[in-house]
Amino acid sequence: MYIDPHIHMVSRTTDDYARMAVAGCVAVTEPAFWAGFDRSSPAGFQDYFRQLTETEPRRAAAYGIRHHSWICINPKEAEDHGFAREVMSMIPAFLERPNVLGVGEIGLNRNSRTELAVFEEHLEIAAKHNALVLIHTPHLEDKLKGTRLILDAIRAHGKLDPARILVDHVEEHTVRLVLERGFWAGMTLYPDTKCTAARAVDIIEMHGTNRIWINSAGDWGHSDPLAVPKAVLSMRARGHTAADIHKISFDNPRAFLSQSKNFSAEPLRPTVA
Ligand SMILES: [Zn+2]
Repeated sequence: MYIDPHIHMVSRTTDDYARMAVAGCVAVTEPAFWAGFDRSSPAGFQDYFRQLTETEPRRAAAYGIRHHSWICINPKEAEDHGFAREVMSMIPAFLERPNVLGVGEIGLNRNSRTELAVFEEHLEIAAKHNALVLIHTPHLEDKLKGTRLILDAIRAHGKLDPARILVDHVEEHTVRLVLERGFWAGMTLYPDTKCTAARAVDIIEMHGTNRIWINSAGDWGHSDPLAVPKAVLSMRARGHTAADIHKISFDNPRAFLSQSKNFSAEPLRPTVA
């Protein structure tokens, strides 16, 4: 039994839900993100948020998987501040929906001033609505700089408890920074670039199993919706205890996500067999 706490199911097929269910997935959480193209109007986000809160929960439930969402405008589409504000004005209504856990995945992409301003406005929405926060950190050479900018902005904002914020896509050079400041850390498992399962297990062996989770971040690009159960296999191969494996792949995400009353990992009865 496992939870994939970061996966973009709108980009995956129903067959992926079936394979994840067979592998033991009981719950997923899906952050709002860039869909591979820029939406031409804020109304495009209204439809996307409906998909995240109406369509995907139904599609997942057929396979006994509980589906939860996070709502935001991603930094890639937030360069036009007026456009971003229109989208952000829709967030409070969606935070009331029964499968929504909070604001995410917010963060930085190119570390620009507008991105940072939009990021801070999202933090304000989260504070006002007492919502959990899921954060995307930039990839490759900008990761350390972007992570520092993000953590400093949260500290300067000052209204959010780090225990209610998860910083995702951490790697060897950013995980300590995130954990030391009291945040939760997420490791995204990619098939062959960035953080592989082997590197994630190295990080667990160096930094321990507290306040850390693994996820597939499966989306429309080259990614693997079974990355979490495959990492479980890697942990077993390297001699980790069943208790530690369960902690990383189930107990930790459940503990963080259960800070929202809308999260549940209680088994759901599938309607397909
Ligand atoms: Zn993502």
